[in-house]
Amino acid sequence: MYHLLLVRYGEISLKGRNRKMFEDILLGNIRTALQGILVHDIHKTFGRLYIETDHWQQAAERLQRVFGIVSLSPVLKAELHTEAIKAAAVKVMADASAKTFKVETRRPNKAFPLTSPELSRTLGAHVLQSLPGLSVDVHKPDVILNVEVRQEGAFLYSRTIPGLGGLPVGASGKGFLLLSGGIDSPVAGFLALKRGVAVEGLHFHSYPFTTERSKEKVIELGRILGQYTGRGQFPLWICHFTEIQKAIQGVPFPSLRITIMRRFMLRIAAQLAQSHKAYALITGESLGQVASQTMESIFTINAVTNMPVYRPLIGLDKEEIVEIARRIGTYETSILPYEDCCTVFVPRNPATRPTVDQALEAESYLDVEGLVAEAIAKTEYLDV
Ligand code: ATP
Ligand code: MG
Repeated sequence: MYHLLLVRYGEISLKGRNRKMFEDILLGNIRTALQGILVHDIHKTFGRLYIETDHWQQAAERLQRVFGIVSLSPVLKAELHTEAIKAAAVKVMADASAKTFKVETRRPNKAFPLTSPELSRTLGAHVLQSLPGLSVDVHKPDVILNVEVRQEGAFLYSRTIPGLGGLPVGASGKGFLLLSGGIDSPVAGFLALKRGVAVEGLHFHSYPFTTERSKEKVIELGRILGQYTGRGQFPLWICHFTEIQKAIQGVPFPSLRITIMRRFMLRIAAQLAQSHKAYALITGESLGQVASQTMESIFTINAVTNMPVYRPLIGLDKEEIVEIARRIGTYETSILPYEDCCTVFVPRNPATRPTVDQALEAESYLDVEGLVAEAIAKTEYLDV
C-alpha cells in the first residue's frame, strides 16, 4: 500500500556550510544502496528525502545499513481533500498494529481549509469509528499517526524504522583499518564508517604459517563491512608478512616480538595510507585487553608514526564490543577458529611494558626499511 519512503537524516543537517556536500554524498550512497530496486524518483524537501518506489520494504532494508540515515517511514500519500485523507488515515492505522494512537498534523500548506488541530480531531474521530478496538491516548500512545499537509498532497505515516545514524561514508575522508580476523577490528571499522570515514582494510597475512582459510575469513569480514560502506564493496589490502615474521623470529629478544611486529604493521600501514591519501589509521585496540594493549605498549608501538591512529574501541568493554559485532553481523565469522599471524608467533612471555629504546635495540638486528619496502611492494589489492 505504500509507494513512498521518507528518509530522515538528522545530524548532517546541523553542519551548516558542509551540508550540501553531506547531502550529496548521502544521496549518492542511497542511490548505490538501492541499485537493483526500481525507484521512480528521489527528491529532497525540507531537509528530508522522499523515495518513490513500489518496493519500500526492500528499499528500507538496504537503507537501514546506510550511515547518515536516522530513520525511515513508509508514507501513504493522499489527495488534498478531507475524505481522501480520512480514508488514508484508516489504511495507515489498520496497518499499524497498535491499541492506542494519537494524530499529529502539520500543515505547511496553509491553503488547506482545516487547521492542524481540526484535521487531527476529524481524522482521530474517523479512525475510532472505522477501527473498533483502537482508542486515543494523547500521553503515551502506541503509535502516532503523522499527517503532513503539503502542496503536493497529504502525507500519512505511523511507522518509524530506525537507521544507523552517523555520517554518510565518504564525508570524513579516508582511513586505513588494520583488519585482523578477530572480533575487535571489524567493529572498529564499523565505528569509523559510522563517522563518515571511507575505510580501507589492511590485513597482514603470514602464509604458510597462517592458512588460506584465515585469509578467506578476513575477506568475508571485509564483505560484511562492505554492506555498510554505501557501495556494497569493501577495499581490502593484503600484505604478505611472512618474511618480516621470519626476520623477527631471529631477533634475540623474544619478549619484544609482538611489539616489533606491531611496529612493522604500523609502519607499513602508515606508508600505504599516506600514498593513498588517507589521513588516519584505525585499529581494534581496547585498553588493557592483552599485553600489547597496555598504555606503555601502545606508546612504544605508536612511536613509529605520527599519523593519527584512531582506536574507536578504547573505551569499550569486551561484552560491548561483542554486542556490536553480533548486531553488525561480523561475530560469527570472527569466532571461526583459524589462527592469525599473531597467535602463531606469540612469545611465551610478551613484554607488557616495552620501551622505545628496547624496541629500537631489538630492531637494530633488522633491515627495517628494506623489509617494509619489500612488504609494501608485495601488497595486493582486492575490492570485496
Ligand atoms: P582483533 O579482535 O581485532 O584481532 P585483538 O583483541 O585480537 O583484536 P590484537 O591481536 O592485539 O587484539 O590486535 C590489536 C589490533 O592490531 C587489531 O585490532 C588490529 O587492528 C591489528 N591487527 C592485529 N593483527 C592484525 C593482522 N594480522 N592484520 C591486520 N591488523 C592486525
Ligand atoms: Mg587479534
